[in-house]
Order: sequence, then structure tokens, then C-alpha cells
Amino acid sequence: MEPILKVSDINVYYGAIHAIKGVSFEVNPGEIVTLIGANGAGKSTTLQTISGLLHSRTGSIEFLGESLMGIPAHKIVAKGLAQVPEGRRIFLQMTVEENLQMGAYTRSGAGIDQDLEKVYTHFPRLMERRRQIAGTLSGGEQQMLAMGRALMSRPKLLMLDEPSMGLAPILVEQIFEIIRTLHKAGTTILLVEQNAQAALSIADRGYVLETGRIVTSGTGQELLASPEIKRAYLGG
Ligand code: ATP
Repeated sequence: MEPILKVSDINVYYGAIHAIKGVSFEVNPGEIVTLIGANGAGKSTTLQTISGLLHSRTGSIEFLGESLMGIPAHKIVAKGLAQVPEGRRIFLQMTVEENLQMGAYTRSGAGIDQDLEKVYTHFPRLMERRRQIAGTLSGGEQQMLAMGRALMSRPKLLMLDEPSMGLAPILVEQIFEIIRTLHKAGTTILLVEQNAQAALSIADRGYVLETGRIVTSGTGQELLASPEIKRAYLGG
């Protein structure tokens, strides 16, 4: 099976800071793959490089067999790769429904209403609040909105950057349950998380990032059972 995303030997710098050091990994169709790592390990930098917001000096990034190197971010979204950024970045002054409609901006009118209904099925809470100004939503609802907005672009790969950040444990559980449901419905997902326990529990495979390098990889279950991972990331 051809991977949907293949990242090979990328190196990313912020000025003189070498943030990503020869990172390679892949995501196969239908998988949930997680990148875990501590604060500052390079998770967000990796996602932003894939989505075209940052650039690698070396290597290659292939999405559906096509190189993404040098392609601007908006064209990458149009190819079917959507990112839900850390901190949500929703349009705070717009309503919930307007935010969702913005997610379909790369598409023509066909099927948008049906997709809106589908998003409301996954997120009944957003349906209840469709006319509400997004800035007045709770943190968990804003995360749902950011995910719903990304789904409106009909992504072939959905990249989530720390969806659990800043959420109460009960909401973290809800968000992960939704990720699992999206996956069952056929969405391929690349999930970046500091919450290694939750991420590995739902992931088919995971990669561990430490100071810009991938140090370990395996199935979600293998990584959860590994003594080193337990010690370093699972609090015991
Ligand atoms: P977090 O969970 O805090 O987002 P992360 O694993 O996503 O962590 P990155 O944000 O990708 O980590 O950061 C990787 C490294 O790059 C860190 O050492 C960070 O300090 C550095 N870095 C990130 N953004 C910048 C920037 N705009 N300018 C300079 N250095 C940066």
C-alpha cells in the first residue's frame, strides 16, 4: 500500500536554530498516526512544514505520490490536506456556521450543505450553537469547531495539532472519542500530542520526537507498553 503521506529526511531551521533534524515518517491510508513528544520537541514545526507554512532545506514530502516541496499552503489545502492548528485559530467574530462555511473555501458549491449536515452529526453541540458568535464558545467547543471547519474541506488527511491542549479531562475524553469516530468513518489522521497516553491509546502507530529527532516508533500498543515510554511520557 502506498503511503498517503511520506516525509523523508526533513531539516527545518528558525534562523540559526536547527529545530527538525532529519525527520522521516509515513502515514498510510485509513491510519491514525501520532507524533508525541515533550514541549519544544518539534511537533508543531513538523506539521507546519507539511502544510507549507515552514520549509525544509532537505529531503522530500510526498502527499498522494506528489511532492509538496515549494507548494504554497493554500494549494496544499486544496489538494486535500487540512490542518487544525494549535490554539484552534477560529474566526472569533463570526458565527459557528460562518466558520464552518469558511472551511469549504477551496471548494465550489457542490455538496457543501450535505457536508455541513455531516459535521453537525459528528458535533451536535455545534448544531445547537450554529448562530452563536464563535468567540463566546468554551475551549472544548472551539476545538470542535476547528475540527469541523477542517472537515469542511473534505480532507484526505486531517492533521490535528494538540487538540487536547487546555481542555478539562472530561472534554479531552470527548475530543478523543470524536477523533476515533472520524477515523472509523474513514478519515486518515495525523495527530500531534503532548498527551501521550490518550494519543497512543487511539493510534495505529506512533513516533516519538525528542529535540527534533525521531527516537522511537511502533504501534500505539507497543509504545504504550514500552518501559522507556512509560518512564518518559506516561508518568510511571
Ligand atoms: P509545543 O508543544 O510547545 O508546540 P513542539 O513539539 O510543537 O512544542 P515546536 O513548537 O515545533 O515544538 O518547537 C521546536 C523547537 O523550535 C523548539 O526548540 C522551539 O523553541 C523552536 N521554535 C519554535 N518556533 C520558533 C520560532 N518562531 N522561532 C525560533 N525558534 C522556534
